[in-house]
Amino acid sequence: MVASIKPYADELALGDGRMLIGGKWVTAVAGATWSHTHPATGEQVASFPLAGADDVDLAVRAARRAFDEGPWPRERAGERGRVLRAIADLVREHGDELLRLQALDNSVPLSFGEIYATSPAFVADVFDHHAGWTDKLAGETLPPYQGGDHMVLTLREPVGVVGAVIPWNAPLPLFAQKVAPALAAGCTIVLKPSEYATFAVLRLARLIAEESGLPEGVLNVVTGPGEPTGDALISHPMVDKLSFTGSRAVGRKVMTAAARDCKRVSLELGGKSPAVVFDDADVGTAAAVTMGTVTLGLSGQVCAAQTRALVHRDAMEEFLVAAQMIAGMVSYGNPFDPEVTSAPLINPRQLDRVLGLIGRGQEEGARLVFGGTREAGDLAAGNFVTPTLFADVSNDMSIAREEIFGPVLSVIPFGDEDEAVRLANDTEYGLAATVWTSDVRRAMRMTRAIRAGTVGINGYQLEPNSPFGGFRQSGMGREGSRAAIESYTELKTVLLPLTDEMM
Ligand code: NAD
Repeated sequence: MVASIKPYADELALGDGRMLIGGKWVTAVAGATWSHTHPATGEQVASFPLAGADDVDLAVRAARRAFDEGPWPRERAGERGRVLRAIADLVREHGDELLRLQALDNSVPLSFGEIYATSPAFVADVFDHHAGWTDKLAGETLPPYQGGDHMVLTLREPVGVVGAVIPWNAPLPLFAQKVAPALAAGCTIVLKPSEYATFAVLRLARLIAEESGLPEGVLNVVTGPGEPTGDALISHPMVDKLSFTGSRAVGRKVMTAAARDCKRVSLELGGKSPAVVFDDADVGTAAAVTMGTVTLGLSGQVCAAQTRALVHRDAMEEFLVAAQMIAGMVSYGNPFDPEVTSAPLINPRQLDRVLGLIGRGQEEGARLVFGGTREAGDLAAGNFVTPTLFADVSNDMSIAREEIFGPVLSVIPFGDEDEAVRLANDTEYGLAATVWTSDVRRAMRMTRAIRAGTVGINGYQLEPNSPFGGFRQSGMGREGSRAAIESYTELKTVLLPLTDEMM
């Protein structure tokens, strides 16, 4: 048996059963709640409000009032920057607590939370990065195009009320990637976390609401599942912009909802990203990093995970041996145990889906090198799947086309650079890729040829100021960097005739 999660829930004083609307901590109007089941043990951890359409309406109206009448959209750049930096400090100060809450949410092991890209340090740095933009969000002065004396200016103004919806796998970084640029631009927000990862987000929202100096109603958090809570938020006519991170299937619904009122929309969706490994690369490192992303930490439940390893035929043997070694390091169990390396799948539905896709891989003729089963014995109460490696995969098989979101790597052989490019781009997605080679020219040729939002060369490490987002069905828009903050603004053009003839 995996040790019970309950003592940690008690220690962290979870579940006062409230969400944040208009500066107040409230239960749902109808009194409904959602009970969270821990993915490693199957225990009920605590419950939180299940917001219905009425609750979402209250939250959106609070954000609307804060935008139309409150100080935040009209605030001085210096003050906005100060508040964002205060949030960054709060995240640093409460980092351990937030990580422990996240382990209660989604069972991401504490050991993994110390890796920079998923750490509180990263979350804090995202707020600091966007704080730096507050006083640089400038318009332009354009030269007169034809005769007459006049001025044309542009202003960057906040887009308005933002409806943000985030998934469960990295709740704190994804909260930051939406809330930081929206606040920096002067927007007000209603955010819905995933029903599978609520506690860490609620705690961070409480720190922000009570200790950062952000005015009431600027940040609102409604809790509950996609339907009714998420649906009510994306459909609300008073929301100006939707910012969504999650699956492609729900992303399509968000885009459809946005179309009804011509809302602005940003989408960060899934991927089926390639790691392209040439025979002149450090093949052992390439295999370790690729298999590591698919099995350690979040167990492959990572949007940018490179789950298709395209491996040169001459490097195949070495790649498979090194990948197996990494899979041997996986240790499942209670996320608070420092020896545990990897998370379970988030829920039984996802467990069934992953096992179903593994079955399809075998039926369609891929070679199962190892894994492919549900963990039994002590781990039977959790949603654990053994680390899984498929070789001899062809790119038209289901395991090469569908985002599995589990500890499954599909290895596809290739013979030359042209074939590698064709295979890498033969996907509906385009989120990320890595190229592994010691030839710098080849690395750059491949980087230009691959249709993906982020390409790593001999490694993959995102920074808080790196633009991140997808080509094709992996989404639209970018998080991080100037592109992110500008996506929370409208561009206004000011026409000023300086003489009577121009009026
Ligand atoms: P999901 O799409 O099932 O859920 C995401 C969010 O949408 C949750 O808060 C959920 O409650 C909400 N939702 C569900 N149905 C809804 C509806 N009808 N209306 C409004 N909201 C609704 O995704 P998930 O399982 O939580 O997360 C995994 C997915 O997220 C994967 O596809 C992964 O690739 C993607 N992801 C992408 C990025 C990125 O930056 N590109 C980052 C992390 C995860």
